[in-house]
Amino acid sequence: MSIVVYIEHAEGKVKKTSLEAVSFANALASQTGEGDVVAVALGTIASEELTAVGKAGAAKVLHAGDDRLTAGVIQAHASAVAQAFQSVGAKTLVLAKSSLGDAVAARLAVKLGAGLVSNVVELPQTSGGYTVKRSIYTGKAFAQTEVTTENKILAIKKNAIDLKTDGADATVETFAVDIPESDFASKITSTDRATGEVLLPEADIVVSGGRGMKGPENWGMIEDLAKTLGAATGCSKPVSDIGWRPHHEHVGQTGVKVAPSLYVAVGISGAIQHLAGVNSSKCIVVINKDPEAPFFKAADYGIVGDAFEVVPKLTEALKAE
Ligand code: FAD
Repeated sequence: MSIVVYIEHAEGKVKKTSLEAVSFANALASQTGEGDVVAVALGTIASEELTAVGKAGAAKVLHAGDDRLTAGVIQAHASAVAQAFQSVGAKTLVLAKSSLGDAVAARLAVKLGAGLVSNVVELPQTSGGYTVKRSIYTGKAFAQTEVTTENKILAIKKNAIDLKTDGADATVETFAVDIPESDFASKITSTDRATGEVLLPEADIVVSGGRGMKGPENWGMIEDLAKTLGAATGCSKPVSDIGWRPHHEHVGQTGVKVAPSLYVAVGISGAIQHLAGVNSSKCIVVINKDPEAPFFKAADYGIVGDAFEVVPKLTEALKAE
């Protein structure tokens, strides 16, 4: 028996969230004695990338390299993963909570008759039942969910699990899948990025600006800092409402929810509706000239100062690194 992990990749790289899913599965296998971790990767990706999945704890990677298996053919992905799941006699499937992960997981739950728990934040309790802790209400609360089906699917919340990096290289095996043509009937053929820069929902670092930036003409310094950090740019709701920034950058309860490793908030007060979109961030840095700004209570690091002085200095210092 093995635990199967569905691997997502983009631009030739396995996504960090999938490596977190592998790390989770590795720890779960040790806890439950479910054997080793078998990762399933679909479509075109270099075998060195797949071998490296072993570092996160996979013993083996099954690779179906059919170049039609792009991330846009969700139904075909679900069929391929179901075949892998059945071929190794697994009872548990682990994957990253993401838009693709959600779409594949829902189809797999039907195909495998599996109970699905999404936004999982820690290993399940498996003595006297099977109870999984998941994050709800944009990270404000947790729910304990009991799973009673034999097959189980766990979708892991980004940044909730420590990444394992000390595993041995995985063996990569070609996996022959038998997918009906009808699974390729509908597909996402292209996704146009609204900006040429890092995508906000998936970004590992986000630099956001609020009304404290005074106007759109001052966004150059936010973009410069973001570029230096390899970050996506975001903003508060009023900033996009006024039209200083596009709506897709609006972060918060009514906008995009982000879960980066680092969130830098510049000139944002920290209203509860904004915090609802950022409270899954690993580290929050706040730059605000008002020491009483509520955002400081949620911050890991705070700089009390004028953004127009602090941000250029910070960017300069980072560039000098
Ligand atoms: P402000 O509240 O005006 O704060 C500006 C901050 O900049 C202040 O803290 C100020 O001290 C600081 N500042 C000013 N000048 C400087 C300077 N030179 N240097 C450094 N700091 C400076 N908001 C969201 O962001 N996202 C949401 O999803 C969202 N959803 C909402 C949903 C509802 C139903 C409602 C009612 C509101 C929602 N809001 C949302 C709005 C939210 O309540 C706040 O009004 C908003 O987040 C405030 O934006 P802000 O911090 O940019 O502006």
